[in-house]
Amino acid sequence: MANEIRVRMAPSPTGYAHIGSARTALFNWLFARHEGGKFILRIEDTDKERSKKEYEEDLLEGFKWMGMDWDEFYRQSDRMPIYSKYIQKLLDEDRAFWCHHSEEELEKERQEQLEKKAIPRHVCEYKNQKSKIKNQNEERGIIRLVVDENSDRKIKFHDLIRGEIEFEERLLGDFSIAKDIETPLYNFAAVIDDYEMEISHVIRGEEHIANTPRQILVQEALGFEMPAYAHLPLLLGSDKSKLSKRNGAVSLNEYKKMGYLPEALANFICLLGFTMPDGREIVAMEELINVFDLLKVHKSGAVFDMKKLDWMNGEYIKRLNDEELAEKIVQIQTQFPILNSQFSKEELIKVMPLARERMKKLSDISEFGYFFKEPEYDRGLLVWKNKSFEEIKNSLFLVAEIVREKGTEEKGALGQELDSLGVKLGDRGLAYWPFRVALSGLKTSPDPVDIAEILGKEKTLERVKRAMKLL
Ligand code: GLU
Repeated sequence: MANEIRVRMAPSPTGYAHIGSARTALFNWLFARHEGGKFILRIEDTDKERSKKEYEEDLLEGFKWMGMDWDEFYRQSDRMPIYSKYIQKLLDEDRAFWCHHSEEELEKERQEQLEKKAIPRHVCEYKNQKSKIKNQNEERGIIRLVVDENSDRKIKFHDLIRGEIEFEERLLGDFSIAKDIETPLYNFAAVIDDYEMEISHVIRGEEHIANTPRQILVQEALGFEMPAYAHLPLLLGSDKSKLSKRNGAVSLNEYKKMGYLPEALANFICLLGFTMPDGREIVAMEELINVFDLLKVHKSGAVFDMKKLDWMNGEYIKRLNDEELAEKIVQIQTQFPILNSQFSKEELIKVMPLARERMKKLSDISEFGYFFKEPEYDRGLLVWKNKSFEEIKNSLFLVAEIVREKGTEEKGALGQELDSLGVKLGDRGLAYWPFRVALSGLKTSPDPVDIAEILGKEKTLERVKRAMKLL
């Protein structure tokens, strides 16, 4: 169909899915869905040494996890004869040639150019020495595109995000397009596929801008039409340098493990380089699809602010009811255990009202492990300020009496009694601190009345008694 919007995500399966690939995929997907076009997933696995099936699976799983679906799927390794046909065509038409320089020769040339502060390029003498080529062993060397080193032309393209971009043709050199007839390189295979798959818009990371003039030359050599280009801004870490393991987690699996909700992470990533017209930050995917505008994507680098992601994830967690949140925690616990204790979903559900407000990610449930397992702590922690063990023990004794009498279900009643106990002992902390530590084993935790309510009378009393024994 003419004028159909067709975009592609073209990851190389040479590493695990990361935030950068998720962002490129999401922007392509949003654009396709907004335009009613097609989103194509193409695995660029022509580099046999570095590509792994495991990485491909991880990419597919990661994209699905983030809520994306694709209309067509391709793998470059299944399409090798197509590339060979085009490489042969260029060789036959003298648009491409075999270069027989050794790697050492090429490296030496490169170093010399760098020393002279020149832009490295390889202007290959073999492109003009047809007779010499015939005498050479064609197995040696690689295949290059003929590029005019004396050209005064500028290769121009209009980038939908960045505007006019141009490169001097003569500086590109005779760049390589294939290792041999059977082994195309990225700049070549991508162009063939973009053409064969009728890609209308190439949307990809800014790091590919420098590849674009090369790809345009391949298109010209084969008489292909140029697609539209949009290069997405660089992703920056908290220190404003390129996002890396050092300044932010990069692999999607890590976010999965930490318990970020895919909806929240997708929402966050969609706003790395795009702003809602009304400035809202928590936005459902359907809404993003409705308003997404490629022309409004920012030019400047997008900072990956972990604190903002945590806030956003916390907001998504707050929207889940007890049952839903508990279910998600159970799911993550079975994949990546965060709590080293046994618990049932019912027990978990009881904890949700207290935990929900305090959780930024699902793995934060680990802060509430004391609900499921008796806490281990040092008896010194039970001591409030400069009080003696005797005073602490006495306070716990009185607390136990109150719990026995009032139970734990009536939070108001229990709280009132504890308040009066505080007054009686002349120090509120003396009533609350040892009780809280006895229940949670922690320096900081929610109010003991709230914890007791969830633990129930029996467990609460057991823990208080156990603490008294420590003293
Ligand atoms: N395989 C390339 C990559 O993973 C694709 C670049 C492109 O979109 O053209 O970076």
